[in-house]
Amino acid sequence: MLYQSEGIVLDQGDFGENDKIARIFTRREGLVRAVVKGAQRPRSKLRGLTQPLTYGLFQLYRGRSLDRVTQVSVRNGFPGIIDDYEKMIYARYLVELLASVLPEKERASAMFDLFLAVLGCLEQKEDPWVIARWAELGILKLAGFAPSFSRCVSCGSKVQEPPVHFSLKDGGALCAACMPLGAAFPGSQGASSAASPAIFSPAPAGAAMSAPSPESQVRAYGELIQVSPGTLRTLEMLSTHVASPRVACPNITARGQVRTEINEVSRKYISFLLDKRLKSAPLVESIEDEKK
Ligand SMILES: [Zn+2]
Repeated sequence: MLYQSEGIVLDQGDFGENDKIARIFTRREGLVRAVVKGAQRPRSKLRGLTQPLTYGLFQLYRGRSLDRVTQVSVRNGFPGIIDDYEKMIYARYLVELLASVLPEKERASAMFDLFLAVLGCLEQKEDPWVIARWAELGILKLAGFAPSFSRCVSCGSKVQEPPVHFSLKDGGALCAACMPLGAAFPGSQGASSAASPAIFSPAPAGAAMSAPSPESQVRAYGELIQVSPGTLRTLEMLSTHVASPRVACPNITARGQVRTEINEVSRKYISFLLDKRLKSAPLVESIEDEKK
């Protein structure tokens, strides 16, 4: 059976001797894997029409396990990304992030709209950094992980005064009052244990009272990232910016410490959620760290 859908080619690889297999994010069916017959041959017409990042109208034949591309009408090949080394590195990274949260064959129209808008903005804007951070937050939000930046994840109060932390485990900002024991004095175990008795509530009769062990403190430090209020405000702006193919790209920028902290939060939070490092992440990070 044939079906038609708008789609974006995410990536492709060789399949057998003559064919290629492409992962296409379609508006109608979600993520599909489809064979492109004969696409390893240099003169194949479909070969040029199924390059990564091609956006168009795809006609597919539904197979039992794999679908097959029969026709493509290209709407945009995003040459401004393809021909730009740095933007292409960002695009590969965002494709990998998207593919790692997207189930196969499940319609995800809002995610499709977002990703199409992301590619448009990545092509159009000069600074891919802001587009990447905005895209990450949007992808995570639609995948069901929406971090909270304006209110404390523990008590719900507005987070304004430093020290403020981002908790990977709780997925959001943590105000000073909600900081776990032993985490309030980073790098100083002595200060931490000296302060402990004051914040310890009286132990019930018969219970042994013990100071937080160094091990649990290490865990607490690793889980918490200290950030400035400006970082949280910028992350909040990025996470609430909604764009569609017709709405403007985020016009936000960050420099210096805020940029560094946003990088740290996004890198660690994504690795934490996915429980792995994305293969394409180190290259993006090396570009960003070089520019600091
Ligand atoms: Zn709190």
